[in-house]
Amino acid sequence: MSLPKVLILGAGFAGIECAKALRNAAVDITIVDRQNHHLFQPLLYQVASAGLAVPEIAHPVRSIFAHQKNAQVLMEEVTRIDLEAKCVHTSGGDLEYDYLVIALGVKTGYFGNDEWEEHAPGLKSLDDATRIRREILLAYERAENCDDPELRKKLMTTVVIGGGPTGVELAGAFAELARFVLRNDFRRIDTEEARIFLVEAAPQLLTMYDEDLSEYTRNALEEMGVTVKTGCFVETLTEGRVELKEGETIEAENIIWAAGVEAPAITRELGVETDPGGRVMVETDLSIPGFPEVFVAGDIAHCIDQAGVRVPGLCPAAMQMGRHAAKVIWEELKAPLPKNYEVRRQFRYFDKGSMATIGRSKAVAVSGKLKFDGFVAWLMWLFIHLMFLVGFRNKAAVFMQWLYAYIRYRRGARIITGVQTCD
Ligand SMILES: Cc1cc2nc3c(=O)[nH]c(=O)nc-3n(C[C@H](O)[C@H](O)[C@H](O)COP(=O)(O)OP(=O)(O)OC[C@H]3O[C@@H](n4cnc5c(N)ncnc54)[C@H](O)[C@@H]3O)c2cc1C
Repeated sequence: MSLPKVLILGAGFAGIECAKALRNAAVDITIVDRQNHHLFQPLLYQVASAGLAVPEIAHPVRSIFAHQKNAQVLMEEVTRIDLEAKCVHTSGGDLEYDYLVIALGVKTGYFGNDEWEEHAPGLKSLDDATRIRREILLAYERAENCDDPELRKKLMTTVVIGGGPTGVELAGAFAELARFVLRNDFRRIDTEEARIFLVEAAPQLLTMYDEDLSEYTRNALEEMGVTVKTGCFVETLTEGRVELKEGETIEAENIIWAAGVEAPAITRELGVETDPGGRVMVETDLSIPGFPEVFVAGDIAHCIDQAGVRVPGLCPAAMQMGRHAAKVIWEELKAPLPKNYEVRRQFRYFDKGSMATIGRSKAVAVSGKLKFDGFVAWLMWLFIHLMFLVGFRNKAAVFMQWLYAYIRYRRGARIITGVQTCD
């Protein structure tokens, strides 16, 4: 007798947790992802700023499920989902399912200005992070051998757009890279003269936090040499040039977009309701209205939970949603027929708090009514991010890297690769 087929699209935080939670269920699980690795996105900025190497924040999906006998992994691109036909089209063929869990995450969003992507890459994948790292390090190399003061200034200028946690983390990391890590590496340029801009449209950084934490973040970044521009809208973005609505133009060799995300186009072809960012509107059990066998979990879902809380796009939320979908599926498979979808368990988000790091010994964190900043918040950030990393090897390697970086103010991952040569 064939087992019920559970098809999980995406091996991110939601997809992995869902598959793991079904490890003892009598089901046939297929996990599909276009990458062969599960990526710890919260530390992507460390790869982009040469703090960590690629293998330290990614883990092969196959090895995560090597011992889970009811799960198989397919490295394929999902191209279309046909909810009526219960069929998912992928680059490697069609897959049918009894239960479907859509956990494809989100992508960098440019608020309708898709042409900006070419000039201001986002940070969402390992390729994005290694490309940004290469371009930043190359800019310093070119500045070292540049006699034109204006061009040298441009080469040593980086603009980060978006003052949320990713933008803050990137700006802080680029400032530390220039002022401490690269300081002794060059002879003709003074990397302490590097200019890092952080541009945010809202009146404050980290808008999800209270004003005092935002103010702390701004002051900490400014102390590190970052020029923070809040209340500033990007009007035009072209090659090496950011024009702000307020009239200012910044010439910069590197421009990074950290201002928004949106759901992949695939959601708009589903024929179901989505929010303006393309996220799929789900019931409180995480299923799509009218399709009780299809769940949407993680960033790609627009979910108002049982308590009326809008579930945020964070790792803990994605993991909880993945586990919830698994529980509902498992309970339903164990229950006698006919199935009654009305009695399904409802999703309730457990908010464990959130945090953002600014630089060495500087971070902000919120947990319930408690607020932290400075060294304590930074230690919390360090501990939690280490615990979340998949695999002992990754945890140990990252811990050693951080210890080394903390003691010596050094960063090991400064090797430039992928440069086109004359050969
Ligand atoms: C730079 C950055 C920093 C962040 N920092 C934090 C933080 O500090 N704390 C926090 O809690 N959250 C943070 N987040 C958010 C967090 O990473 C997300 O909330 C979380 O990854 C969502 O999990 P998910 O499973 O929904 O999607 P993801 O983890 O994005 O996984 C989606 C998976 O789907 C795959 N996929 C996508 N499209 C296709 C396709 N067409 N075919 C096949 N496979 C596909 C992708 O390869 C990926 O593996 C950060 C995100 C970024 C980008």
